[in-house]
Amino acid sequence: MTGTIFDIKEMAVHDGPGIRTTVFFKGCPLRCHWCHNPEGFTQKPQLMVKENRCRHCGLCFKPCNHPECQPFGRCLHICPENCLTVSGRTVETKELAEELKKSAEPLGDAFGGFTFSGGEPLFQPAFLLELIDELKGFPLCIETSGYAAGELFRTVIDKLDFVIMDVKLADSEKHRQATGVGNEQILENLRFLKQSGKPHLFRTPLIPGIVDTPENLAAIREIVGDSEWEQLPYNTMAGAKYKMLGMEYTI
Ligand code: SF4
Ligand code: SF4
Repeated sequence: MTGTIFDIKEMAVHDGPGIRTTVFFKGCPLRCHWCHNPEGFTQKPQLMVKENRCRHCGLCFKPCNHPECQPFGRCLHICPENCLTVSGRTVETKELAEELKKSAEPLGDAFGGFTFSGGEPLFQPAFLLELIDELKGFPLCIETSGYAAGELFRTVIDKLDFVIMDVKLADSEKHRQATGVGNEQILENLRFLKQSGKPHLFRTPLIPGIVDTPENLAAIREIVGDSEWEQLPYNTMAGAKYKMLGMEYTI
């Protein structure tokens, strides 16, 4: 079967144990105001334009015959400034698995495994489960918001070696305001993960004034309990990607 991804990162050292290859699934049910991968919001491929380099020569707006350009109404191959790229490609599970395995070969025994990130990998469940089967034998990890039906969450993490899960806001209404969804399902999955015995790490992005308040961090400390918990500094580099996608960065 096919799924949509927007990136593959080799030699990743912050996406689970060891040196890994991370594959970024396109599509996420959340809309965190601070998300640094806005190209992961929607599942369909998107045009990204480096407006700051554009000379407004108009060349890309002239009709072309490349099939891959037609959905975007602009020629992707003619820009003298390389302003145009497409984020997202549809891939067959088997082909993707082969591509990923090739990335592991040069590292030999030093290879740490594969990580499924995004976007939200659980947003393409059938594709994810098939890819997990194709990569059987390798150490596998997921980076997830935890926003998924309980049964799916349990099925997937049972097949993995390590789970990295976000914990953003303890209060459900504040969670809804900042991400578009309440946190009840997330906290239910979090509780399951904690008692599952599966090696895991909780992560909290320290978004100023939203996530990093003493009150929220104290409540998250209660929620994560004895589990490993990492607090991530706010990534200020996200704004440029929003511009390239024609979206507004509201934080
Ligand atoms: S071809 Fe490139 S420089 Fe010219 S209008 Fe298109 S994006 Fe801008
Ligand atoms: S859950 Fe992650 S990928 Fe989805 S919008 Fe939030 S930060 Fe972005």
